[in-house]
Amino acid sequence: MGSEMSKPPVENAQCAITARVTKEFAQVTRALKTLGAGNHTVLRSTDEQKLLQDMCSVIVETGGYPFAFVAYSVHDQAKSIRWMAGVGHNIELVKSFPFTWADNKVGRTVVGTAIRTRRPVIGRIFRPTADYAGRDYSKFQEQLIEEGYRSVSAFPLQIDEEVIGALVIAAGEPDAFDSAEAELLGELASDLAYGIRHLRLSILHRKAQASLEHLAYYDELTGLPNRTLSLKVLADAMIAATRQRESLALLHLEVGRFDEINKVLGYRCGDQLVQELGRRLKRVGIAGESLARVGDAEFALFLPDCGAEYAVEVARKLLSTLQEPVDVGGLMVDARVDIGIALFPVHADGADALVRRANAAMHQVNRFGGGYAVYTEGQESGQTRRLMLMGDLHRAVERNELRMYCQPKVCMATGRPSAAEALLRWQHTTLGMMPTIEFISLAECAGMITPLTNWIMEAAFSQIDAWQKVGLSQALAINLSAHDLYDAGLVDRIRGLFSTWSVDPELIQFELTESVLMADPVAALETLTRLKKLDVKLFVDDYGTGYSSLSYLQKLPIDAIKIDQSFVAPMVSSRDSATIVSSTIELAHNLGKQVVAEGVETQDVWDRLHALGCDFAQGYFISRPMPADQLGQWRHSWS
Ligand code: C2E
Ligand code: CA
Ligand code: CA
Repeated sequence: MGSEMSKPPVENAQCAITARVTKEFAQVTRALKTLGAGNHTVLRSTDEQKLLQDMCSVIVETGGYPFAFVAYSVHDQAKSIRWMAGVGHNIELVKSFPFTWADNKVGRTVVGTAIRTRRPVIGRIFRPTADYAGRDYSKFQEQLIEEGYRSVSAFPLQIDEEVIGALVIAAGEPDAFDSAEAELLGELASDLAYGIRHLRLSILHRKAQASLEHLAYYDELTGLPNRTLSLKVLADAMIAATRQRESLALLHLEVGRFDEINKVLGYRCGDQLVQELGRRLKRVGIAGESLARVGDAEFALFLPDCGAEYAVEVARKLLSTLQEPVDVGGLMVDARVDIGIALFPVHADGADALVRRANAAMHQVNRFGGGYAVYTEGQESGQTRRLMLMGDLHRAVERNELRMYCQPKVCMATGRPSAAEALLRWQHTTLGMMPTIEFISLAECAGMITPLTNWIMEAAFSQIDAWQKVGLSQALAINLSAHDLYDAGLVDRIRGLFSTWSVDPELIQFELTESVLMADPVAALETLTRLKKLDVKLFVDDYGTGYSSLSYLQKLPIDAIKIDQSFVAPMVSSRDSATIVSSTIELAHNLGKQVVAEGVETQDVWDRLHALGCDFAQGYFISRPMPADQLGQWRHSWS
């Protein structure tokens, strides 16, 4: 002090300027250093809490500020302030003050003011006498001064439009935080806010990513892994099994009647059914299993370290768990599944192939039985053939590969020909004549029955019309499938055919299989009633295979029933069959219905049926099916 006094005034002033510039330079330098290191911290951060703590450390350790803290504003009634992080000598003391950002006396601390006004509060000097934030705060300031703190600044932390809190920095000099330093520290606060925003966004992003992944790999309805994930898991399990020289079993489960259930009860019930099945399957809880939903009503379950024997045991267990009817919307639905089993590595060495083989095995399970089958060689090639044929069948109509064959029915009392059954034939370009049963069931599976029904109806109407023109009055019976029964446009199309061709309704008959009528009695009654209004004749086909009662059939507007050939052919040798045939004829007659026996192959059978008073006979004994244009000639030779 003394030496300064002896300097001349100019020199004194120069000294003062130099001292100020040096101090300003030092302050800007520490702020710059802090900003650089702070930036680095923001860039490296992966966690918000850690970022705040690191930033305070940088300010104190690199910048040389005595303390720094970050606090967030809480939007509660007291407008309290939550301490987030802080570094500095005796920082616990700072932390202990009950800060608030409310617009009252206690809220006038730098941190409270910065948050409330959304503006920085720069270089406030601690004074023991200042009680601008209340008497408690004056005492608190005294303690701060004792700790060597002289001034303080607070910078709001703003994310988008919102001030989430403030960064508070103290200095050891009362005249710290000139404009250059304050600007740099303000920049530091915005960098910090940027870092917080970035971390929060990346958490949101990760959450969105996870839920997208969940959507991509899990089934919404059951919460089970979906097909994509199950294939991945299966492929991994195969690698593990190979390493450990173990085998692995894949069980493919499908509800056989799901389409039908959906159609009759609606999709919502179908969904409920699938959910319940998913729950039941989860409950079975087989050790080590992985379960997935891989199709509408299809589940896959694979078992590590599992051979054929254990796989079959599991399949049996599943079948018994699933055989209980499922309650959907108050209705008890029989939702038994078929299970196909394939084993790795015996049946396939890749995930896709294993899935195909389990699927092929499943299709071998007796449709109505509900059971299981283990894959055997060749099942899959059958599947491939079906797929190929489906494609060909699409083109069969356009390529003119369909034919109508006719098989006569004969009146047993007079021996005279009556109607004939129109039977579809498919002359495949390379495979030759296709077995009718095969391609009809294919068309039913592939939802392609409608074009075939339309084709045969058109063929039948035009043929009858042609016969009428040469003086022959010949009735034809057309087979309808289950899909036709649900087809709302069917009756209108038939009406259209009547108006195109001048065909007497008496000459048109329809045959509907008993099992189809039983599957959905309500739809059956409706369609049959509409058909009957056209004055056509209606027949119940394959009677005896659908477990209906004649009294149920009595409620339907039908004219006759056709006893299935599986009872007719063996009636000479089997007493049971004979009883069924005779009682059916008797009951039907009592109800005023006529009876046709199909599959009459021998004179013996004909004689028995004749004795029982059967009305009509059809079968190889009378004639095999023939191309429609040969029927006229056959009638000649028959008489
Ligand atoms: P279905 O209606 O029961 O037709 C009778 C089937 O028994 C015919 O087989 C016929 O050839 C055969 N059959 C006739 N008499 C005898 C006999 O004495 N002994 C034996 N063992 N069999 C005899 P096809 O023509 O192969 O037809 C098979 C099934 O395909 C038909 O059974 C019918 O359900 C279906 N189908 C045929 N044409 C059509 C059609 O145009 N539309 C629909 N939806 N189904 C058709
Ligand atoms: Ca038929
Ligand atoms: Ca039949």
